[in-house]
This record gives sequence, structure tokens and C-alpha cells, in this order.
Amino acid sequence: MTQLQDNIVGIDAAIFMHPTTWKASGHVDNFSDPMIDNKDSQKRYRVDHLIEAYADELESAGKKDEAEQLIASMDALLAKSDFEGLKKLIEERNIKCSVSGTAHWSEVRQFNLMFSTQLGSVSEEASEIYLRPETAQGIFVNFLNVQKTGRLKIPFGIAQVGKAFRNEIVARQFIFRMREFEQMEMQFFIKPGTQKEWYEHWKETRMKWHLSLGIGADKYRFHDHVKLAHYADAACDIEYAFPMGFKEVEGIHSRTDFDLKNHQEFSRKKMTYFDTELNQHYIPYVIETSIGLDRTVLMVLSEAYQEEDLSTVDKKDNRVVLKFPPKLAPVKLAILPLVKKDGLPEIAKGILAECRGEFRCFYEEKDTIGKRYRRMDAIGTPFSVTVDYQTKDDQTVTIRYRDSMKQERVPLISVREIVEKQIL
Ligand code: ATP
Repeated sequence: MTQLQDNIVGIDAAIFMHPTTWKASGHVDNFSDPMIDNKDSQKRYRVDHLIEAYADELESAGKKDEAEQLIASMDALLAKSDFEGLKKLIEERNIKCSVSGTAHWSEVRQFNLMFSTQLGSVSEEASEIYLRPETAQGIFVNFLNVQKTGRLKIPFGIAQVGKAFRNEIVARQFIFRMREFEQMEMQFFIKPGTQKEWYEHWKETRMKWHLSLGIGADKYRFHDHVKLAHYADAACDIEYAFPMGFKEVEGIHSRTDFDLKNHQEFSRKKMTYFDTELNQHYIPYVIETSIGLDRTVLMVLSEAYQEEDLSTVDKKDNRVVLKFPPKLAPVKLAILPLVKKDGLPEIAKGILAECRGEFRCFYEEKDTIGKRYRRMDAIGTPFSVTVDYQTKDDQTVTIRYRDSMKQERVPLISVREIVEKQIL
């Protein structure tokens, strides 16, 4: 976002911010999800998750129309914040708790997702502060700082990678939903009235980025929000077909001037930008792209994971392989001397010394070459080179490609270039 786009800069803002920031942003009053408790198991559910799980069951049972109708009714009730209606819907469908197996439910209540702690040494003087539930507000409160020091002209963006914290009731599905996670957000500041075009622009640009990861277009879809967050005038998710179904990886939100206007009001500091072309002060509108780093990792892992049957007539065999695109693989090259003696480790370490400054390498002497290759397959290393006795005679090594498992003899001096070409 900061290197390949025009006019987007990075920032690293604070995790603790003044409590008023979260009042201004609306998170103290609005950042909550409707929850319901099962009175028998005491288990708490997010209402939308409970109903969606039931809809998934209906769909698996071949009742697709009924599932869609249920989701549509839920969306309509959520959009109106009709909590009584949501409870009625759960009861009418006889949706049960997976632990107690009963449909004995509490009222639907709002539950704020922010983690709080105390700032100040003496408890009487301490004030409640929050760990940021999104990185965006650090960008909003620093917006003029960055704009002025960076001499940025609208349209421009500020991007950030950082931790966010949410008191998720059900943190599960591995790294899909956690209470402490990493967001990669970008706020793009624009002229009021141009939000529709920029919203479309960022939808398209972000989808292109996803496709550039080597993942097929059939694995993605857009999902428009029916119930808009308190700050948005349009919003959608980019969903990926995870093994557990299509789920959100990234959100694209048209946030209007909601945040900057409120920060101006609560801080009594001007948040206006002076547009030299229009000769006019205004509060910019904002389009936001917000992607979870952890969810992206899970997406890339899900896409890359394969179990392959390599059995022949004589022998049963299989392997686990992570087929990461080379540019995403954490380790690019394995350097493996055939044996631990006769000068082969020294030659292999020479290759390591030449390559490790350019990309991540892994050096290993232990076990048979076959075992070492399989371990590299399992962590997704796209290239392995083996140094053997022939290397000493003719300065060539065997390079083995993870996906095809093909091996070829190449000059030792060309290894670095071969890998570099593939990882750009
Ligand atoms: P969800 O509906 O799944 O709770 P959200 O709509 O609340 O997500 P946003 O507020 O739009 O999520 O946050 C932007 C991105 O941050 C999401 O697309 C997701 O990738 C990531 N994210 C949000 N919550 C979590 C979490 N608890 N664990 C990991 N990643 C998360």
C-alpha cells in the first residue's frame, strides 16, 4: 500500500489512547454486538453467529431456500436493532445451544467489545482507558500531523500495521478470530462527494491485490453490509472460501467525515484541510480498507495446504506440502550438504553466505536428503539445493523444486539468481 500506490504513507500510532478518543469515535456507545445466553449451559453466543450456524446446518441438509430466508430475516432485524425480534426468531426456529441442547434463552443484550484498563498510579485518580479495538483512530487523531509534515494533498492515504484488541465472546477457529490480532488498515482522505467513486476504486484495487497472491477469483466474493456500522455510508467485505465456508478477510468502508468531525468536536481542535485548488477548508471524507493480517495468513495457509498421494505400484507414499507462491514462502531456499564431511558443508555454507542477505535460507545437515526434502515441503520452502561429491568436481548442485519435485543440475553460482527471479 505504501510502496506501490501514489500518495500513501505509513504511521505507527499508540495502542493506548485518551479515553475521549473512543467516545468521539463512537466505540464507547456503539462498539457492541448483540449477545444471547443459554440459561442452562451459561454459554454466551453472538446472535448473528448462532443464527448463521443454524443456517449452515439447514444448507447442509439441503434446505438452501430456508437458510437464505432465515439469514434475510436476521439481517432485517439486525438492521433495525430489533432485539426482541431476534430472540423471537431464535425461539421460533427452535435454535438450540450446542452444549446444553436446550432452547432456554436469555434476552438479547448489547455487549461492548473493548478491553479497558486503568491509567494512573492511585486508584482514586485513575481513569479508564481502552486498548484500541481498531488501528484506524490512531490515524484519525494524527491526520493533520501526517498531512502537514508529509505535505500531502488530497487524495492521500495513511496506512498502518498494528495490534488491535477485542473482547470476542467466542475466539476460535484457530487464528481466524482472536482477542489480540493484527490489523493492516489504510484510511484514504478524499473530497466530500467523491466517496462513491473512491469506494469503487478501492474495492477493485483490493480485489486485484488478493488475486495477485495467486488465489483464484472463484475463491473470493464481495459481501455488501446490510447493517452499516455507526460510521459508514457504504461497506462491504471481501470474503474468502475458507475450509469452514466463505468468511470475511477484509472490510472496505466508506466512513464519511464521521470520525474527523467527531474528533474535532470532542477535542475542540480543527480537523479541516485546506484545499488549495478549491480555495476552501473542509473535513475530508474517508474510505477505509481494513484487512486482518492473521486472517490473511490463515487464508494463504488454507490455500497452500495439500496432502498428496505419491504411491507407486511398489510403494505407498504421501506427502504434506504447503504450496506457497515463492514470494510468500517464509523460507525461500534450503541448502543441504549430502553428507556432513569431505568439505561438502563448507561449500554449502558458502552458498548460504551468498544468499542469506538477499532472502531467507535454511541450512540443514541432519537426516537423509529424502527426509530433509519432505520437511521442506511441509513448511513450504519452494527450492532446495543439495551439495554432493560432484559439486567438488564441476561446481554444480542439484536444485529441487517443491511443487513438481523435479530435480536438475545447475551451476552453483547461478543458485542465487534462480531463486531471486522467482520471488519478486
Ligand atoms: P467479524 O465480522 O468477523 O467480527 P468485523 O467486521 O468486526 O469482523 P472489522 O471491524 O471490519 O471486522 O475489522 C477488519 C478486519 O480485521 C477483518 O476483516 C478481519 O480480517 C480482522 N479481524 C476483526 N476481528 C478479528 C479477530 N477477532 N481476530 C482476527 N482478525 C480479526
